[in-house]
Amino acid sequence: MPPFRYFLAPEDCMSGLSRYPETCVFCGKRTRAFSFNRSFGCPECLQAGYFGFNHDTELGMIIEDKVLLMGIDSDDEEDFLVPIRDAAEKIGMPEAQLRELQRTPCFLTCNNVTWMVCCQDFMAYLGQWQPENFASREAFVEAMSRQSDFSTIRWLWPEDETNPHFGEMVIHVFRCLHCSRLRAVNDST
Ligand SMILES: [Zn+2]
Ligand SMILES: [Zn+2]
Repeated sequence: MPPFRYFLAPEDCMSGLSRYPETCVFCGKRTRAFSFNRSFGCPECLQAGYFGFNHDTELGMIIEDKVLLMGIDSDDEEDFLVPIRDAAEKIGMPEAQLRELQRTPCFLTCNNVTWMVCCQDFMAYLGQWQPENFASREAFVEAMSRQSDFSTIRWLWPEDETNPHFGEMVIHVFRCLHCSRLRAVNDST
């Protein structure tokens, strides 16, 4: 598996990756590959940009060569569904970063989880953690602090408890490639 800038989690967290070798429709190599348009594309061809994935991010949804921008108040589709190049300019992010995320695998989730952003760049996905994987309760609370259902999370791990019981909850963790802060999103089954 080639290294992906924004995907630092184990292969098993990649969505749509075949269990057994398949033939890549772009280069003909037989390897574990991603299902794409009812055929398969290998990780190297994904990285080289022969195909890509749509991603829902905090800045908007990347859909093929366009971005559905968030928070644009307009009735005109051209104002919020814009080509990647224009979207990059509007959100003040280098186009190369949006392209790089397109060439990044999706991660397995139960519900829709948006790709987090920090320091004007997409964060790197680290995978699914349990609360005890965080250095401390404080680190966990800090990582979760921007969640809309933060009060529930806080309640799930009371301050005076060392062993939280989260049951079936899955926590997706991202790390900023620039400032190293962690951010996490919960994803209940
Ligand atoms: Zn290939
Ligand atoms: Zn940052």
